[in-house]
Amino acid sequence: MVFICRQCGTCCMFMGDYISIEHQNGPFEFACESVSTGTPFIASIDEDKREIFLDTTFSDLHPTACRFLRPDGDHIRCTIHESSPCQCKFYRCVVMKIFDKDGIPVGFVNGNLSLHSDDLHLRALWEEAGRKISLRSDDAEIQLQQYLADKGYRIE
Ligand code: SF4
Ligand code: SF4
Repeated sequence: MVFICRQCGTCCMFMGDYISIEHQNGPFEFACESVSTGTPFIASIDEDKREIFLDTTFSDLHPTACRFLRPDGDHIRCTIHESSPCQCKFYRCVVMKIFDKDGIPVGFVNGNLSLHSDDLHLRALWEEAGRKISLRSDDAEIQLQQYLADKGYRIE
């Protein structure tokens, strides 16, 4: 499936501990660290988002959210889109939607190839697939899709 980010902000709501601000270098520039990889980066607030960034009401109300997340009309946006770390840029919250043979949605897979499902049979199959398919291989996503399709699931 082609992934289109809806800019809902859900994936950034608990990233406050993972995108850490070390110093403020200027009014709109921060020395940061992406904690999960230990990678330092300079965050510059996008020019067109400086006004919404200055309103910290959202951050104050949501202390677990990434400090660079702000509401903007119907969206919740990253205010450092241009300078955000690469794992943020390439993050995809849904790369596969999984349906059973009756067309009932039973789970989804995110860009890290993690399954989110309450279906115990599907979860067991996913573990089995993970033992047979290297998740590091370039075509892991396609192989996993095929694996589930062969077991009767429909993938979108
Ligand atoms: S990647 Fe994040 S912001 Fe974009 S649609 Fe998914 S959860 Fe929402
Ligand atoms: S830097 Fe931007 S994309 Fe990354 S967690 Fe923060 S708000 Fe989300």
